[in-house]
Amino acid sequence: MKILVSACLLGTACRYDGSAFPNEAVLELARVHTLVPFCPEVYGGLPTPREPAEICGGRVLTRSGADVTKQYEKGAAEALRLARLLRCECALLQDRSPSCGIGVVHDGSFTDTLTPGDGLTAKKLSEHGVRVLPASRVAELSACPCDKRCQRHGDCEACRLYHQRHGRPFCER
Ligand code: SF4
Repeated sequence: MKILVSACLLGTACRYDGSAFPNEAVLELARVHTLVPFCPEVYGGLPTPREPAEICGGRVLTRSGADVTKQYEKGAAEALRLARLLRCECALLQDRSPSCGIGVVHDGSFTDTLTPGDGLTAKKLSEHGVRVLPASRVAELSACPCDKRCQRHGDCEACRLYHQRHGRPFCER
C-alpha cells in the first residue's frame, strides 16, 4: 500500500524547532508499504525552524500573532495533490499538529492545552476521501500484509520479513 506520511515521523528534521520525531513503528512500515514523506508546513512555504503556531478561531496564528493560515492551506492543498497524483491509499500523520493532527489539536492558547479538532492537512485529506490515521494508531497498518497484498504468503518477501520480525507463523491460506 502507498501511504503519505508526516515527514518528521520518518526522521526528517522539519518540525517547527528544527527537530525530527522519528517513530520506530512508523519506520518499520517501510518494510511492507511504500511510504511517501511529506511536511505540509514546509510545502506551504514556511521555513525550518519557524515560530510555533496553533489553530485559533478558524485561523492559524503563530505565538507572536502572525497569521499563517494561507501557508497552512497551501500545505494542505499540496498534500491532497500529491496523495492523488501518487495514489496514496491513506495518510499517517503526526498527532496534535495544527497541520497533521487528527481528532485533537492544541487549543490556540500556547499553554499545551488540547482541544477536539483536526489540523488543516488532515481535514483536507479526509474531506476528499483519503483515509487518515494518527501516528498513535500505526499498529493498524502493521497488520500482516499476506491477505491484502499478494496471497503468496510464505513466498512473498514482504510477508516473510513481517513474520520474521514479529515471530509469528504464516497466515493460513
Ligand atoms: S507539519 Fe506535519 S510533517 Fe511537518 S513537522 Fe509538523 S507534524 Fe511533522
